[in-house]
Amino acid sequence: MSIKKTSGAQPLKPADFDEALERYREYLKRKKLLFTRERIAILEEVMARHDHFSVEELHDSLKANGKKVSRATLYRNLDSLKEAGILAEVDLGNRHIQYEHVLGHSQHFHIICEETGEILEDDSVEVEKAVEILARKHGFEVARIKLQIFGLRRRK
Ligand SMILES: [Zn+2]
Repeated sequence: MSIKKTSGAQPLKPADFDEALERYREYLKRKKLLFTRERIAILEEVMARHDHFSVEELHDSLKANGKKVSRATLYRNLDSLKEAGILAEVDLGNRHIQYEHVLGHSQHFHIICEETGEILEDDSVEVEKAVEILARKHGFEVARIKLQIFGLRRRK
């Protein structure tokens, strides 16, 4: 299954990495966890990627950069990064989980082709507004929106 992102790519500003670093540092302090070299390496790798990636892919790219991290450590760290609001899970169905960093990456929706696994991103303001109206109708203030649309992409 090849997964590629065809839109929504944004270059990472150094300020985004600094913000992520600061946020992670705060989070670890709150949890009384140490800010280890290993954690920094994982954070760097996560923030350097602008696509959707699996744990395996992250594991491989860390290894390629000479950073050996066990899968168990990686899973634990991804959970922490999620809790800290730096990383989000993208559920592609079939329990195939991918990740993407959310800091410095504006809110967007995923449209996923079930045949090829291709992921498109869209940051439609209209959809966002519609969701807000829906939430308000039920007395909700929107904290975050997670929208994945599954289907088959029609070839032109
Ligand atoms: Zn995305």
